[in-house]
Amino acid sequence: MIRVSAVDKYFGSSHVLRNVNLEIPRGQVVVVLGPSGSGKSTLCRVINRLETVDSGSVLVDGNPLPEEGRALAELRADVGMVFQQFNLFAHKSVLDNVTLGPTKVRGLSKSQARQEGMRLLERVGIADQADKYPAQLSGGQQQRAAIARALAMRPKVMLFDEPTSALDPEMVSEVLEVMAGLAAEGMTMLVVSHEMGFARRAAHRVLFMADGEIVEDTTPEGFFESPESERARDFLSRIL
Ligand code: ATP
Ligand code: MG
Repeated sequence: MIRVSAVDKYFGSSHVLRNVNLEIPRGQVVVVLGPSGSGKSTLCRVINRLETVDSGSVLVDGNPLPEEGRALAELRADVGMVFQQFNLFAHKSVLDNVTLGPTKVRGLSKSQARQEGMRLLERVGIADQADKYPAQLSGGQQQRAAIARALAMRPKVMLFDEPTSALDPEMVSEVLEVMAGLAAEGMTMLVVSHEMGFARRAAHRVLFMADGEIVEDTTPEGFFESPESERARDFLSRIL
């Protein structure tokens, strides 16, 4: 579903992705861990082409990343992304946030989009918030709205970049619940998160990144019980 081959990425002189190779088959849930600045967000961003790569290739569902235009919009629709900051449209209602993309990019009629949008809001547990504006929602509700908005595009893959790290602690679990539900339904997911409970429960695979490299690529048990690298042991000793 996702194939990242020999990808290098620089920002000026800093080498932020180093020969990254990663294949994520359909239905797999991959959690990415690693210290700040190790390249986790950049990896997500090159997968949906918010960043270009300097060398190597990224394929989504067998297709290379389009450069621009309609093909790029469609690629972005195939790859849903949820950010730490919820990035909802502030002057649109929650339901309008969810229906905008499908009407513009997927060609759904307004009524189809609203029907499907309400179904998604129900699924993430905020159907009763549909007519409110984002600022009137709690952080956990906003993040669930952001997930519903991404799902409304019927993505083939979902990328989550630290989706719970801006949330008050009591709201973390409601968002993780939604994510675990998606994982259980077979969504292909790449999740940057330091939520160990989620990784243990929902991940099929854990990647540990350091200095732009994938240093470990293993099972959750393997990673948490017996990390191979000194860097991973050091990282775990600080977050556990
Ligand atoms: P964090 O855990 O803090 O979110 P991260 O693992 O997601 O970190 P990235 O955001 O991918 O790390 O950043 C990797 C490196 O690239 C860092 O050194 C960062 O400063 C640098 N970087 C990221 N985005 C840019 C940019 N737009 N311009 C210049 N440097 C950047
Ligand atoms: Mg990041």
